[in-house]
Amino acid sequence: MKTLYIEDINDRIDEEVELFGWVYRQREHGGVLFVVLRDSTGIIQISIHKNNIDLNSFNNAQKVTIESSIRVKGKVVEDSRAPTGIEIKCSEFETINLAEEFPIQEGAGKEFLLDIRHLSLRSLKLTEIMKNKELIMRGARRYLQENNWHEVFPPIITSAACEGGTTLFSMDYYGKEAYLSQSAQLYLETAIFPLEKVYSLTPSFRAEKSRTRRHLSEYQHLELEAAWMDAKDIMKVEEELVASMCKEVSEYNGLEKFGRKKEDMILDLPLQRIKYDEALQIIQKKGIAIEWGSDLGYEEEKALTNEFEEPFFVYDYPIEAKVFYMKQNPDGKTYACADLLAPKGFGEIIGGSQREDDLQALETRMELDGVDKTPYQWYLDMRRYGSVIHSGFGLGIERLLMWICDLEHIRDACLYPRTMSRVEP
Ligand code: ATP
Ligand code: MG
Repeated sequence: MKTLYIEDINDRIDEEVELFGWVYRQREHGGVLFVVLRDSTGIIQISIHKNNIDLNSFNNAQKVTIESSIRVKGKVVEDSRAPTGIEIKCSEFETINLAEEFPIQEGAGKEFLLDIRHLSLRSLKLTEIMKNKELIMRGARRYLQENNWHEVFPPIITSAACEGGTTLFSMDYYGKEAYLSQSAQLYLETAIFPLEKVYSLTPSFRAEKSRTRRHLSEYQHLELEAAWMDAKDIMKVEEELVASMCKEVSEYNGLEKFGRKKEDMILDLPLQRIKYDEALQIIQKKGIAIEWGSDLGYEEEKALTNEFEEPFFVYDYPIEAKVFYMKQNPDGKTYACADLLAPKGFGEIIGGSQREDDLQALETRMELDGVDKTPYQWYLDMRRYGSVIHSGFGLGIERLLMWICDLEHIRDACLYPRTMSRVEP
């Protein structure tokens, strides 16, 4: 079993260590072989001098190829010429699996790298992205546990649409039609009656037929739902949650690689809140024709968010822009909802709202929107048996990660991205 990782050896100067990992780079210089070893925690240079090592080990090192798995033994020494300031003076070198010629060369194209994602995910950049993804969930869980939210596990196979029929993936379910979940929201709403404050992390599936750099067909959806909270209360939860997620990342050293500073990840709460009407004015001033009543699309959000340095809320969207389950404001024209938008062109990372808790208001809205009530009877029951004010939201993990790591495309935020044009490998 491997017991020592590259990140641990800073404290082992002058000690003899054994490391396992993969060959990241390899070169020969002045009769000395230099192999850069990679493991999940970083890279380290191994220097191999013919005189300090048995012939077998030297031959192994000489023949070794990129991405071969290896075991090395040697002394840890400080050396300013090494990429990380320390190196291993090798005394033993064993090749565990001699890799065939690795297909990824410097300057490989994006599509090719996606075609061989099973190999390209070994890159240092993707490794860091995956670690940050894990960290933002760690930050989320920390906040959720500290504030007594209950984790629940809703189904992925569903019978009702949540976000509208156009982006549904359907499937044959023992001869009946069923769908892959677009959101766990409706189920979470039922779970607030026993548990009051609930959350789930599930994949959501959306058949997004317009290709944008921020839409996946399958993404990780963190959703919260709480009884006794109104639209304002839930915005406070949203910003605290996101702040906790960002803070977790700020404490890790991998951020500089993405041109981001630790300080960027410390959010100054409360975040700014602007009304939809105000957002519309900002967008219109930038020469984009958008009428009151439209939801903000990619172009609009880009224009708007370029005016901001920190994430911010846009609240009270027109009824025609959003979905029937939201609570109508007393003005009769808007919903008590809010989206959280990331700045500098990124756009939406959270969509949230207070939910309609009055049976009659909800049924009327469904009728006006032409929604068939039949499959929603169980959902309507929530308004029949002890209905309460409640609110919730959904956060796209890859969207947040995309903003944090300043990624060009959301697919870089996934181990195996699923988009309209890609379901392999
Ligand atoms: P958009 O307008 O950007 O398509 P939406 O309004 O459809 O988003 P919601 O239904 O409110 O989004 O979903 C909640 C969150 O899920 C969004 O704020 C976003 O972070 C994320 N999300 C939605 N659709 C996708 C997708 N196709 N790929 C990745 N994340 C998504
Ligand atoms: Mg959408």
